[in-house]
Amino acid sequence: MKKLNNITELKPLLAASVKPRVVITTHHKPDADALGSSLGLHHYFLKLGITSHVVTPTDYGEFLKWMPKENEVVNFEEFEGKSAELVATADLIFCLDFNALKRINNLGKLVAESNAEKVLIDHHLEPEGFEDYRLWTTKASSTSELVFWLIEIMGHVDLIDEAIASCLYAGIMTDTASFKHPSTTATTHRVAAVLLEKGAKSNRIFESIYDNYSESRTRFIGFCLSERLQILKEYSTALIVVTAEDLKRFQIITGDSEGLVNYGLSITGMKLSVLIIDRTVARKMSFRSRDTFPANEFARKYFNGGGHFNAAGGESMDPIELVETKFKEALNTYKNLL
Ligand code: 5GP
Ligand code: MN
Repeated sequence: MKKLNNITELKPLLAASVKPRVVITTHHKPDADALGSSLGLHHYFLKLGITSHVVTPTDYGEFLKWMPKENEVVNFEEFEGKSAELVATADLIFCLDFNALKRINNLGKLVAESNAEKVLIDHHLEPEGFEDYRLWTTKASSTSELVFWLIEIMGHVDLIDEAIASCLYAGIMTDTASFKHPSTTATTHRVAAVLLEKGAKSNRIFESIYDNYSESRTRFIGFCLSERLQILKEYSTALIVVTAEDLKRFQIITGDSEGLVNYGLSITGMKLSVLIIDRTVARKMSFRSRDTFPANEFARKYFNGGGHFNAAGGESMDPIELVETKFKEALNTYKNLL
């Protein structure tokens, strides 16, 4: 691993008369924490007079498009040339809400090749160590909370305005499942309180994200719960397998399946909830667990994935029927933890 510089050493770089050119990037299919932390940081840099661009490896859900300056985000899949140029000419690349370059797909190679210094801001286990600066702890509720900490370390809480506050609040709210997960600390609440004081509108942000679904998405959730949910009682596990045909029937777009996996864990007695979706390129899996079942270890061991202890993901190139079979076999090896 590279030698790490102290994060406070960014202070003179950001304050220098010749400003660094900044690129901010985040993980594949960004969620509200990924995009909120990125745009919150972007707004902060603009306030410092720094040229900054947010480059995402892929597109993201409609429910994030209310975020201020979302329209300036460069999607690598859509604008490959422009993204490559921004990454190649950057002085500083901020990598938010991911711990390994493979999480940003083909953009990872460009980031690795760029001469820019890299700054990791993240709360996932075991960062692979490609960065020069690190603001990282698994104890933070979200990357958005860490971006607040960065602004605080830089001595700039006074610069936080409604745009920054709204983006960061959205990330904290969603990554804690509305301040419910055990990662929610007294500090998380204090940070959220400051963001409210700076102008974030908690009710409007909640509505924009959670009360903003299309009719077909709502019917799709109903269909999955009634027709696709399996209860594997002896494993205290809920499983939903969604086929490519289902996705087509309900005209599912990016972001529509967000939250579906959580329903399984809301059933009394369930310790593990799993969603397998037949996406175009690969079979994508989501794992949510309760108590002592290590979702990240399971995802890493069997499905080339990882994540947090109780919320992880993975993928497989096998056909969906085979993924389901392999999952059930793998589950049997973890029976004593379920
Ligand atoms: P989700 O189920 O919402 O896609 O992901 C849940 C958590 O698992 C997130 O924290 C995410 O970072 C992680 N995760 C999801 N998919 C993958 C994957 O393919 N590889 C790794 N290492 N982590 C993943
Ligand atoms: Mn996050």
